[in-house]
Amino acid sequence: MALKEILIVGAGFSGAVLARELVESLDCEVLVWDERDHIAGNCHSERDEETGIMVHKYGPHIFHTSNKIVWDYVNRYANFRPFTNRVKAHTDKGVFSLPINLLTINQFFGRCFMPLEAEAFIASIGCEEIKGPETFEQQALRFLGEDLYNSFFKGYTIKQWGTHPSNLPASILKRLPVRFNYDDNYYSSIYQGIPEEGYTTMVQNILNHPRIQIQLNTRFSKGDSSGFDHVFYSGPLDGFFDYSLGRLGYRTIYFERNVADCSDYQGNAVINYCSEKVPYTRVHEHKHFTPWEKHDRTVYFTEYSKETTEADVPFYPKRLEGDKELLKKYRQLAEAEQNVSFIGRLGTYRYLDMHQVIEESLIFSKKVLSACSTSSKIPIFPNEEI
Ligand code: UDP
Repeated sequence: MALKEILIVGAGFSGAVLARELVESLDCEVLVWDERDHIAGNCHSERDEETGIMVHKYGPHIFHTSNKIVWDYVNRYANFRPFTNRVKAHTDKGVFSLPINLLTINQFFGRCFMPLEAEAFIASIGCEEIKGPETFEQQALRFLGEDLYNSFFKGYTIKQWGTHPSNLPASILKRLPVRFNYDDNYYSSIYQGIPEEGYTTMVQNILNHPRIQIQLNTRFSKGDSSGFDHVFYSGPLDGFFDYSLGRLGYRTIYFERNVADCSDYQGNAVINYCSEKVPYTRVHEHKHFTPWEKHDRTVYFTEYSKETTEADVPFYPKRLEGDKELLKKYRQLAEAEQNVSFIGRLGTYRYLDMHQVIEESLIFSKKVLSACSTSSKIPIFPNEEI
């Protein structure tokens, strides 16, 4: 069908990229609504009023991808400066490099291993009896052994997810590499960086088009769909249906802001606190994300994790078994809707990094354009649910 009037709900990356791609190829007007007073969703960055430092309001965002198309795309809308995320882990046994690498292993066990020796050593302390690890805990015990699991992962994960690692899938731990060399880059992606003027400026540039109109402080409800040829909705899937079947589980995070009267408070952008005895999960000091800027003072945020209540911003989809069942039911409701598609982290209820959202939005916009040109039905979701 011909799309003339399009409403995009949510001005985060999924909505912004889709808006831009559609408006450049279709003869259409795109309205972008966001219920917040700013664009860029959870990637929103702004200057801290007191110190002038660029802060990531909803927690640290480091852009990384191995997809050249995505990297070229984001570089069209922002000047990226090189940044490598090198996280430190504060544990009961001291401060170590994370992800676990040869330095971590040698310092933690007081050894001087070469790569092959370290690999053999870690294999020897892993619990071989665990077959086909399914849970986070089994994955950790099988491939890292008890000491590393207890010091780096158990406490942090209980705090982060509010449940024991034996209730969580192995896939969460698999996001982190284990390296037998001294590479302490937190990510394994080919490209990594931080937009010089922040993420919000970058999203603003994506949305900067005469046929895209942004309306902030505007909350969407289902009745608003009439009057538009199609709505692309990037808010929470269950929220679209007024939570009629119940709420999908999310963890949320919140921060305590502090200013220190020194130029460097903790010496690094991110330090994880892995012990369960410490109530918070991480401390981030944002000036380290922009080492090209000069500031006399520093602002840092202590991050806590908790269950999401109705008043909270949903961050991490928990995707426990019950959530997945509920997700199936909401997807069935969505399939019965007319002229609505669900996109992004909240619309599809998946844990997605920025680069994944952008990649998916670029692919999805091609599918939408192809549906328009063949007069077929616009896909309801960008992904198949497994
Ligand atoms: N994790 C941990 N200790 C750490 C860092 C991570 O136990 O110091 C666990 C935690 O459960 C986390 C998962 O590993 O959710 C994946 O790490 P990642 O950095 O991808 O964390 P996320 O993006 O979930 O914050």
